[in-house]
Amino acid sequence: MATETPALTQLPADAIAGRAGRVDREARFPRESVAELAAAGLLGLAVPERFGGAGAGPTEIAGAVERIAGACASTGMVFVMHVVAMQTLAAGIGEEEPDGPKHAALAAAARGEHLSTLAYSERGTRGHFWAQVSRAQSQDGGVLIDADKSFVTSAGEADSYVLACGAPGSVDPLATELYVVSADAPGIEVAAPFDGLGIRANASAPLRVRDLRVTADRRLGDPAAGFGLMMQATLPWFVVGSAACSVGIAGAALEAAVGHATGARLEHVASSLADIPAVRARLAEAKVRHAQARAYLYAVAGEIEAAAPSAQVGVLALKAVAAEMAVEVTDLCLRVGGGAAYAKHGPLERHFRDARAASVMAPTTDLLYDFLGKALCGQELF
Ligand SMILES: Cc1cc2nc3c(=O)[nH]c(=O)nc-3n(C[C@H](O)[C@H](O)[C@H](O)COP(=O)(O)OP(=O)(O)OC[C@H]3O[C@@H](n4cnc5c(N)ncnc54)[C@H](O)[C@@H]3O)c2cc1C
Repeated sequence: MATETPALTQLPADAIAGRAGRVDREARFPRESVAELAAAGLLGLAVPERFGGAGAGPTEIAGAVERIAGACASTGMVFVMHVVAMQTLAAGIGEEEPDGPKHAALAAAARGEHLSTLAYSERGTRGHFWAQVSRAQSQDGGVLIDADKSFVTSAGEADSYVLACGAPGSVDPLATELYVVSADAPGIEVAAPFDGLGIRANASAPLRVRDLRVTADRRLGDPAAGFGLMMQATLPWFVVGSAACSVGIAGAALEAAVGHATGARLEHVASSLADIPAVRARLAEAKVRHAQARAYLYAVAGEIEAAAPSAQVGVLALKAVAAEMAVEVTDLCLRVGGGAAYAKHGPLERHFRDARAASVMAPTTDLLYDFLGKALCGQELF
């Protein structure tokens, strides 16, 4: 089950929750909240110890994400992307590799001075993030990259991007490479602002990359190792992070709905909404759904941590379980909140919108069902 990481005790969750409504309304990146994560030591939580971080595993990360996303879903997703970028970066460094920009990014994150994210999804391959139509060209021992990234969380706010592109000299969309690039490198710009339905404050904007020169020491792993790193390092951590985000959002919605039901008075009969059996039944149904998904989250996080063979199914199923649970639970909670919730008196409407992001973020629920069905039938996933 969830473990209380020492850094979490430093987390000013109330302050982060207190500004969640405002940053959502203004679609403004939650810089103060991210600074508070940094001050609490959370940016280094998922950085392996050999790079100066706390070396937290998936269970501990799930606990942190659940708490942060329960306070502010946008901040939670910024944190998830950072965690996944750190893990992918660390997996892309060889044991004997001399210090370079990859080590520097991890060490800076461990000190709380560096925020990173993933720039995988492309306009041309959409939610099939593992495939790239952009193509790096070899130049002067490094590469030159042109790419159109469709969504990048923390775009224009992060210090670095773990950027995917097609490997030089190949036409295979699965022959990819990952590079850690500085966000202020010439050739990278935010192409348009993000104006989403939910998690509106996380700056998930498109990036335009033109004539970006990248040195070879910024490549993660061997030539054309991108696909393998995405599957082995990015996917499991993203699945856990995204699911924990969904569990955190749904948990916050449930708490708000219970608060509303017990507090909203029916003065003509001297009772509250909570005295209506149908209202209580909706809350109970939401609780059951939330508890099931939450238990599955920590079970799969444990399986990944233990490198159990069963983790393979968990990695394909968990994000869909949690995403769809959050959609259903926030719907139940919004109904309990009635017109008051609909009219944005309180956070329920925001939780309802925030919860919908996970099912359309890659791998989408549809794609995960396709992959899981193939895995169950013994078919190749790609
Ligand atoms: C808030 C937010 C933050 C994001 N942050 C990042 C980020 O930091 N980095 C990053 O790289 N990307 C990010 N993304 C992009 C995300 O991972 C997906 O790539 C993106 O949401 C897919 O949107 P699309 O319009 O391209 O969907 P499409 O791929 O066009 O999908 C449209 C519909 O078709 C369905 N579909 C597609 N293929 C199949 C299939 N084979 N079988 C069944 N159904 C299928 C999908 O499920 C979906 O319902 C983010 C997206 C959002 C919304």
